[in-house]
Amino acid sequence: MAIKVEHLNHIYGQDTIFEQYALKDVSLTIGDGEFVGLIGHTGSGKSTLTQHLNGLLKASSGDILYNGTSIYSEGYSLKELRSHVGLVFQYPEHQLFEVDVFSDVCFGPKNLGLEKEEIERRAREALQLTGLDESFYKQSPFELSGGQKRRVAIAGVLAMQPEVLILDEPTAGLDPRGREEILGLVARLHEEQGMTVILVSHSMEDVARYVSRLIVMNHGEKALDGTPKEVFRHYKELEAMGLAAPQITYVVQALRERGIPIDQDITTVAEARDAILAMWKR
Ligand code: ADP
Ligand code: MG
Repeated sequence: MAIKVEHLNHIYGQDTIFEQYALKDVSLTIGDGEFVGLIGHTGSGKSTLTQHLNGLLKASSGDILYNGTSIYSEGYSLKELRSHVGLVFQYPEHQLFEVDVFSDVCFGPKNLGLEKEEIERRAREALQLTGLDESFYKQSPFELSGGQKRRVAIAGVLAMQPEVLILDEPTAGLDPRGREEILGLVARLHEEQGMTVILVSHSMEDVARYVSRLIVMNHGEKALDGTPKEVFRHYKELEAMGLAAPQITYVVQALRERGIPIDQDITTVAEARDAILAMWKR
């Protein structure tokens, strides 16, 4: 088990007139090697939760265990935690600042105090993983496309060689092609590197195809937690939370309401196609 969250509460501006309850009694476990989607409407607490997982924000109450040890225990190194639990912020390209791509990716491992050779080896490896070849190394990050900038930012976190990778809305603001590039990259990191991945999104369509588990946040609370199929069965509740199941779910429901015996758990267009073709042949 990688991460265990127990009865986590977070209140911004506690004891001020700005007091804002952002997380309410959130408990969850993320297992090693899992690929989890964290979904919720804007303001539901997704970013607040992810920033607790690598120790950037401190809980108002509750506990977080990383590999069995409380990150709030005395002498626990949050700096070390941050090298194991890598967080790619929303709009991470706003944090690119070095003169060239390569230096930017070196920043994280440099901070870990590693030898120059090791820093550069990791930076090269991370850039390779994100599919940016050497022609990019000496370019200014500011000259790149939106999707490329984001890949540089992800490489910067990967160069720390984290065990858990958290990406906060990594596709926000990208065009469909940029979105596919990033989601494909994240899926590859999970499959090929066996990395534990938490993918934050407000779009069901984006994550449903990739993750094996969905955690749904609503008004600071964990509302649903299960496989995408389990979660999409609650599509009416999801709607009430300002979310929607993938469009194909609605097509399948409409067919069922017309008496067509199609499996209600279909969540992708490919599954729907196969099911409909199979009925045809019967
Ligand atoms: P999400 O990432 O799901 O959009 P957030 O975690 O950013 O949600 O926000 C959860 C709640 O906490 C929201 O009501 C938001 O307005 C509030 N909030 C977020 N950041 C701050 C902050 N720095 N100070 C005060 N309130 C905040
Ligand atoms: Mg957010």
